[in-house]
Amino acid sequence: MTASLTGQPVIVGAGLAGMLTALSLDQPCVLLSQEGAGTVSSSVLAQGGVAVAIGADDSLASHLADTLAAGDGLCNRHMAEAILAQGPAALQRLIRLGVVFDTDAAGGLLLGLEAAHQHKRIVHARGDGTGAEIVRALAAAVRATPRINVLEGWTARRLLLNGGRVAGVLAATPEGANVLRTEKVVLACGGLGSLFAASTNPQGSIGGGLALAARAGAVIADPEMVQFHPTALDIAAFPLPLVSEAVRGEGAVLVNDAGERFMADIAGQELAPRDVVARHIHEQILQGRGVFLDARQVLGEHFSRRFPAIAARCTSVGLDPSRDLIPVRPAAHYHMGGVAVDLHGRSSVSGLWAVGEVASTGLHGANRLASNSLLEAAVLAPMVAGDVAAAVHQGLDCADAEPLPVEKCLVAVRSILTREAGLSRTETGLSNALRALEPLVASSDAALTGLLLVAGALERRESRGAHWRADYPMPGEARRTFLTMQDAISIAGRSNQPAMQMTA
Ligand SMILES: Cc1cc2nc3c(=O)[nH]c(=O)nc-3n(C[C@H](O)[C@H](O)[C@H](O)COP(=O)(O)OP(=O)(O)OC[C@H]3O[C@@H](n4cnc5c(N)ncnc54)[C@H](O)[C@@H]3O)c2cc1C
Repeated sequence: MTASLTGQPVIVGAGLAGMLTALSLDQPCVLLSQEGAGTVSSSVLAQGGVAVAIGADDSLASHLADTLAAGDGLCNRHMAEAILAQGPAALQRLIRLGVVFDTDAAGGLLLGLEAAHQHKRIVHARGDGTGAEIVRALAAAVRATPRINVLEGWTARRLLLNGGRVAGVLAATPEGANVLRTEKVVLACGGLGSLFAASTNPQGSIGGGLALAARAGAVIADPEMVQFHPTALDIAAFPLPLVSEAVRGEGAVLVNDAGERFMADIAGQELAPRDVVARHIHEQILQGRGVFLDARQVLGEHFSRRFPAIAARCTSVGLDPSRDLIPVRPAAHYHMGGVAVDLHGRSSVSGLWAVGEVASTGLHGANRLASNSLLEAAVLAPMVAGDVAAAVHQGLDCADAEPLPVEKCLVAVRSILTREAGLSRTETGLSNALRALEPLVASSDAALTGLLLVAGALERRESRGAHWRADYPMPGEARRTFLTMQDAISIAGRSNQPAMQMTA
């Protein structure tokens, strides 16, 4: 069957970024979907919405200023401006593809406000069901487009190269290993949050796309920049459900199990920046304390009307937010780093593009502004598609068959990263993590992704945005990290040297 697909662009991953890239191509293409288009993805879980500066009092300049402020000195201003400027057009494209956003009685798009945005600019659907609505519409459009060949149950495991250029994809399929011959691969594999024990991401978000790109020699940008959401519901589940910032926006307060309101003296209190709130909760947990959101006073019986999805999730574990404290903890949520790409999603490897959370355009810098990620994927996907369509075929050959690599060590990697590379990082912990990860890299994509993340974190001897170094609490020089797999292995090698040699 795959012989008939030879030469077609292959898109790896069928969340928002992958499906929209496939829909934007005007030629036959292959869409690899591990579980079925959109079904298991961060896209389907997105609650808040899509940030677009379309309000009467809003402007591109204001959206850009908020994005740069959240990015804490690390955004690529040119890329950010170019991407945000395309927001309104990207929104219209989603609407043309059948996405139904929430509107007011006059039919105008309803705009919500989220933390760190100066204006109401969050376009949403079904209240807090934006991602589910986008995925519904795009999956229906994909099904209605016969030129998109969806291969369900297929997982890309390696990129096959010829002379340093992409020549094929080795995939694990329900029938075993298979090779797709293609000179054009678009990675749309999502993030890496599930490399941490507490995560809001689906189980499959373990940075597989980053590992595919890195093994092919691609440059990875800012791998150390992981956003932790401060308030995931602390229950025995994977992923952990979000307790939206809006609950704190309504006045709910954070308390520990001694009843102390530990954010009371911190600037911004419960609505301080995400990384600040997350670190304070983390410190409480390290001290052995439980942490809770108390919405009883401010919302009481109104909670379930205002936040029906969160209330339902609480009810499912026997909690009533109108009467009970809501247990919360920080959880890995979004990866600002990724495959380094330009405005067309081109990576440093010929024939390889990346789009969505797996890519790093420089829009998010050291911390993502809420709701800028769906926007980024919606803007970039058509640009990637245009560039892929224009790329010239080289006539490269690739190997017929390759044995499937066996993936090992996810549990070990998760435990190393959770312990040493989470909300608070130190030289000693990161060096230990590198030493533990490096021997696993040959047999584990999770270990390779972890190695990149930890190497970036070790080299960034400062605190900025989502990256907190307890031993370097101040910001230093604002510079982005760009690493290859070989760079990360060299950094691991250096951290293995005895201390005398390191300082020599
Ligand atoms: C709970 C939650 C709420 C969020 N809310 C918002 C929000 O309100 N606004 C906002 O802007 N952002 C939000 N985000 C972030 C946003 O949802 C994601 O950044 C975005 O959806 C990523 O889209 P994507 O297409 O790049 O990746 P995904 O939607 O994660 O899709 C990637 C797909 O690729 C598949 N895949 C991975 N590796 C392979 C492989 N090797 N082979 C084949 N398939 C593979 C995965 O299984 C997955 O289906 C939220 C995220 C979460 C987790």
